[in-house]
Amino acid sequence: MSAGPDVPEGGERVFVGLGANLGEARQTVLRALDDLTRLPETCRVACSALYRSAPVDAIGPDFVNAVAELRTGLSPMALLQALQAIEQASGRQRPYRNAPRTLDLDLLLFGQRQLTASELTLPHPRLHLRAFVLRPLLDLAPDLRHPVLGVLQPFLGALADQSLQRLENPPAGDRVARQRGSRPPATG
Ligand code: AMP
Repeated sequence: MSAGPDVPEGGERVFVGLGANLGEARQTVLRALDDLTRLPETCRVACSALYRSAPVDAIGPDFVNAVAELRTGLSPMALLQALQAIEQASGRQRPYRNAPRTLDLDLLLFGQRQLTASELTLPHPRLHLRAFVLRPLLDLAPDLRHPVLGVLQPFLGALADQSLQRLENPPAGDRVARQRGSRPPATG
């Protein structure tokens, strides 16, 4: 596990969606997954595989997507701000809504919390409607429950027409990758 020294016992289980479709999108997602290991009061528990998806409600090249599972002692707003700092550091600009993006980080689920605020909606309102989110999310947690919708697995069937291609195994160093024996062979 990529645990920081200051992760509190009993932190909340959080899932973050990552997407990039500009520049070196794969490298951007891998770097952001690495950045997640350095958040304060947070450990990265697991990463999904990387996926490629066609843009939904957006334009530009295909996206590279992944989902990360975290355990955090941060508040939802503090975590959102930390994610936005990672987006900014990756050079993200917001010229217009749904513009192609260097990096997009979405807070998908924060335990079973529900929140509707101008800056943050929890759970993410579209997580069950997008294969590029739901598939990697359920790879990590097949029995995952949504606080309103309940078990999420049945929603995947309705998304079968959305283009999604599995690219590669998760980066090494995650508990799930090691437990499932899907860790790629070490190089160098
Ligand atoms: P986007 O351009 O799709 O990345 O949307 C970012 C905006 O959505 C930011 O202004 C956030 O404050 C807001 N937002 C609301 N709910 C969430 C969420 N669950 N995760 C990430 N951003 C969110």
